[in-house]
Amino acid sequence: MSRLQGIGMTSQRTRDRLVRRLQEEGISNQRVLEVIRSTPRHIFVDEALASRSYEDTALPIGHGQTISQPYVVARMTAALLESGPLNRVLEVGTGSGYQAAVMAPLAGEVYSVERIRPLLDLARERLGELQLRNVRLKHSDGSWGWPEFAPYDAIIATAAPEQVPEALLQQLAMGGRLVMPVGPQGVQELVLLTRTPEGIERQVLDKVSFVPMLGGTQ
Ligand code: SAH
Repeated sequence: MSRLQGIGMTSQRTRDRLVRRLQEEGISNQRVLEVIRSTPRHIFVDEALASRSYEDTALPIGHGQTISQPYVVARMTAALLESGPLNRVLEVGTGSGYQAAVMAPLAGEVYSVERIRPLLDLARERLGELQLRNVRLKHSDGSWGWPEFAPYDAIIATAAPEQVPEALLQQLAMGGRLVMPVGPQGVQELVLLTRTPEGIERQVLDKVSFVPMLGGTQ
């Protein structure tokens, strides 16, 4: 039995159960549900936590960070998928690499930046294991975006700043969407911002709780 396939609490049956739960919670996008069904979340967490990897919760990944809750991953991915093209996507906060792995089959190219080097190295290994070749990673402070490949059709940030960084808005293509948590710890909102000829349109999707977006690298 290969590690990707999983057994017991990491088996396909357990993953199917997670997908049913997401459906009950209101996720209806079939393409997103299908990718979540086929993505082995257990390889993105420490082996000691593998048996909990198909629970709908965030889990620790070290360095004070967490792998995002599957519901939130599904919600953010669906919001971007349903609002326009995904040829070029930027993610701020690679973390475990799980959100990037979910985005990859739905997007043309995924560019993902992470400020903590050891997390980025591990994510690179895991994405390699899944042979996802359209994900490019970089060690840097993502509040500056990744100007080299801008503009992006979509930007997803998985850490919460108190205010949306201006650089991210500037790197959005016309019609591009940015989904991210914004606000201080405990009272964050998940917002969907769209760049239109008239300016930035703002829609609040949910109340959420993410780790903070921090400056600099380590
Ligand atoms: N998408 C990740 C979620 C990880 S938690 C996953 O699916 O596992 C958010 C991540 O954002 C953390 O790893 C944290 O180190 C990173 N982060 C926080 N501020 C950042 C910044 N300014 N630039 C890049 N990454 C940042």
